Amino acid sequence: MSTSGRRERVRERLGEEVGALFVTAPLNVRYLTGFTGSNGQLLLDAKPVFFTDGRYEEQSAAQVPDLERFVYSGTTKMSDILRRVLDERGIDSLGVEAAHTTIASLERLHEALEGVDLVRTSEVVEPVRARKDPAEIAAIRRAQSIAEEAVTSVLDTWDGGSEIELALALEWAIRTRGAEAVSFEVIVATGSHSALPHASPRRQAADLDEVLLIDIGAKADGYCSDMTRTYLGPRAPRALTDAHAAVCEALEAGCAAVRAGVKASDVDRAAREVLEAAGLADRFVHSTGHGVGLDIHEAPALTSTAEDVLEPGMVVTIEPGVYLPGVGGIRIEDLLVVTDDGAENLTTLDRGARLPGRDA
Ligand code: ZN
Ligand code: ZN
Repeated sequence: MSTSGRRERVRERLGEEVGALFVTAPLNVRYLTGFTGSNGQLLLDAKPVFFTDGRYEEQSAAQVPDLERFVYSGTTKMSDILRRVLDERGIDSLGVEAAHTTIASLERLHEALEGVDLVRTSEVVEPVRARKDPAEIAAIRRAQSIAEEAVTSVLDTWDGGSEIELALALEWAIRTRGAEAVSFEVIVATGSHSALPHASPRRQAADLDEVLLIDIGAKADGYCSDMTRTYLGPRAPRALTDAHAAVCEALEAGCAAVRAGVKASDVDRAAREVLEAAGLADRFVHSTGHGVGLDIHEAPALTSTAEDVLEPGMVVTIEPGVYLPGVGGIRIEDLLVVTDDGAENLTTLDRGARLPGRDA
C-alpha cells in the first residue's frame, strides 16, 4: 500500500472530535511518509504536512516528495510553523500520540498552541500498521531468511569462544548478508544462564555441552524478523530434554491456532494448555507472542488477556518457553503470517534439539 493509502486508512480511524493528528512516533512517521531519518513529524490532515530539521533537508526532499514540507532550524521553531498551519486551516483540536509523547513535549505543545485542544489518542496508527501488505511481508521474509542463513553458517563453523563472540559472529553474518541491522541485540545463552528469558551474552565461554539458546532477528528495509532456537548438547539435563519436547508441542499448538478471525488470547491459550498439561505452566513466564513489523514488538499482543483478533496480513511470533532456574531454559520461536484459512510459517530452520552439523 502506498504511504498515501496508509494515511487515508489512519484518517478514517480519527474520531470526529480530533481535527488532525500530530504523528511523532518515528516508526509511525516512517510508515506514513517513507521518511527514515531520526527526527520527523507529520501533521495528518486532508493535506498532510511534514516537518523535519535542517539535517534532513535533502533526505526528506527525496523521501517525502509528495507532501508539503517544512524544515525548521535554530531561528524557525517547529511549534511556530505548526501553530500557523493550524490557524490557517481553522483546526482547533489536535490529536497527539499519548504513548509516544513525553510530558515535557506535551507541555511545550500546550504553550505553543494555546487555545488548541490537545486530545490524547492511542492505537490510531498501530492497528493499521499491524496488517502488512505484500511488500512489507516480503521484507520480513527476507529478514527472516538472512537470520536463518546466519545461524546455520555460524553454527556449522563455530569452533569455540565466549557467548559475546558467538553473538557478534551471528550479528556479523547478518550484516554481511545484506541486512541493515539486527532487529534487537542477539541473545546467546548457554547452560543455566538460558533460564533467564532475556539473557545478555556473557564474556565467559559458550559451553555447548548442555544447552544453547539463540534469539535472533535481522532488519531488512526497516522490517524486523524474530526467531529463537534452543539446542541441547550431549550433557543436557533430562529436565531440559523433556522441556524441549513440551515447548515444541506448545509451539505447534500455538501455530495451529493462528488464523484470521481468531482471538489472540485463544492462540495464547492453545500454547499454554500444552505446557499446563506437561506440568510446566508456572515455568512459562511470558506471553505466547507478539506482532512484528517496523518494530520488533508491535500489535497484536498474543497474551492471555489480549482483546485483539487476528487479521490476514498480521505477522506474529509464537514463542512458548520454559525456564528452570539453575538448570536452563528452552524457548522456540517461529514467525508467521496470518492468512484467511490459517498461517504461513516464515521460519524454515529446523526446530530440532541437536546442534546442526554436530553429532550428539
Ligand atoms: Zn519474539
Ligand atoms: Zn525472539
